[in-house]
Amino acid sequence: MIDIQNHIGGGAVESLSDERQDVLNPATGECIATVPIGVAADVDRAVEAAQRAWKDWADTPALERSGCLSRLADLIDRNADELAAAETDNNGKPLALAREFEVPRAAANFRFFAGAILHSSSESYDLGEQGMNYTLRRPRGVAGCISPWNLPLYLFTWKVAPALATGNTVVAKPSEVTPLSAYMLGELALESGIPPGVFNIVHGHGNTVGARIVEHPDVPTITFTGGTRTGAHIASVAGAMFKRTSLELGGKNPIIICEDADLEAAMPTVVRACFQNSGQICTCGSRILVHRERLKAFMARFLDAVQSLKVGDPRLPETDLGPLVSLDHREAVEKAIERARAEGATVACGGDRPEGLPSHIRNGAFLNPTVLMGLDQDTCTNQEEIFGPVVTVQGFDTHGEAVTRANAVPYGLACSIWTNDITRGHRMASMVESGMTWVNSWMMRDLRTPFGGMKQSGVGREGGQEALRFFTEPRSITIGY
Ligand code: NAD
Repeated sequence: MIDIQNHIGGGAVESLSDERQDVLNPATGECIATVPIGVAADVDRAVEAAQRAWKDWADTPALERSGCLSRLADLIDRNADELAAAETDNNGKPLALAREFEVPRAAANFRFFAGAILHSSSESYDLGEQGMNYTLRRPRGVAGCISPWNLPLYLFTWKVAPALATGNTVVAKPSEVTPLSAYMLGELALESGIPPGVFNIVHGHGNTVGARIVEHPDVPTITFTGGTRTGAHIASVAGAMFKRTSLELGGKNPIIICEDADLEAAMPTVVRACFQNSGQICTCGSRILVHRERLKAFMARFLDAVQSLKVGDPRLPETDLGPLVSLDHREAVEKAIERARAEGATVACGGDRPEGLPSHIRNGAFLNPTVLMGLDQDTCTNQEEIFGPVVTVQGFDTHGEAVTRANAVPYGLACSIWTNDITRGHRMASMVESGMTWVNSWMMRDLRTPFGGMKQSGVGREGGQEALRFFTEPRSITIGY
């Protein structure tokens, strides 16, 4: 049983509040830790520490900053088993997913930006006989990093790494639902040689700790990943204070299966795209659009594959879907399935809880992967994010219709298109309103590429140059001869 502490000024610090919340394992219901329910004064303390550390960290040579981040990446690798176990116990994700994909990616986030700052440059322009101009890119100060519960360490580090690499100091808040791996990261950060006060973590709820980070006058940069409604609120507060804001929000992502798609080759990836991490990944597909010529063949294969997914103990290697992140979230997803039924959905599979689970996980937040059919585009089910193991399937007759339907939602985060016609793949990808489109693939990620969404899926992009620019302030300097 771990009593999580805030990480401020280079060490574990008790919260100024006495209140604590249990951190639950959603598979077993067991309490695995307690987390402080911090208050605004905890944030103020962390911002003070970050402010004190800022100038020195900003002036630390890039090679030294890079060294600290590389050492932290190595420490994540060395502690990968413990971190992966924490992710599984806290979030419910299959251990193999955490160990083989998410924890290595957290290390890669630090390693990538440790390298990126050694190879970045800024512009300079020759103004002829008049003079010359160059751009200084300086860190912006204290960055507020707020992350969600679905990929706890992966998304937390995706924000913290570029902020630190570019010379900002950080006050970060992980989700109060999944704080364990961020706490462990704080301890590793000490060992990595990152100086005290450079990287601070405050635990607590969004409407207190998160809100204080957003409104603190000494935090000019806010990077947030979470729900669209929370993002809209943060934008309204941060925007009025002229803060620089990056918002990675919800999605309602289409998967388009054209008539010439290779169904056999596509199937494992399409199933993963819908149900990896129980559909609790922002880029997961939740609306499958299938050319009507292939609808029957697609459904036969798809249902076969979905029904063979194993729902169960996330610690076991054969498990495909662990529990949802919490009983509350399962209830919300079940309500969405009920609403779909009321909207006229046919439940092609799932829609219920698995039976016959072993006694130690019998009360966990498990839900079977669910496939819904027969719903119009404008139903709530096809418009609103559910963020669980639930997909709808619709038929289409023309590619124009597929693109129109793909775009007929308020979101624009991710899309996956399956076709053997390369021209069609390019053309449709250019027409879909989506920050990221994968043709004949899904979640093929390279950290250099821009990550993020359009419409209500977000503002700004993360990754590569986009992140280096976001966390630095360009100052144009012109020298007259
Ligand atoms: P959420 O918006 O409830 O919370 C996200 C974080 O914001 C948490 O740390 C929370 O404590 C904090 N927060 C809540 N209210 C706040 C406030 N008023 N001010 C400041 N911080 C506040 O989201 P969630 O339920 O944790 O995560 C699920 C959502 O995240 C889904 O909508 C999903 O699509 C989205 N998401 C998006 C991406 C992306 O890259 N676009 C990635 C992962 C998850």
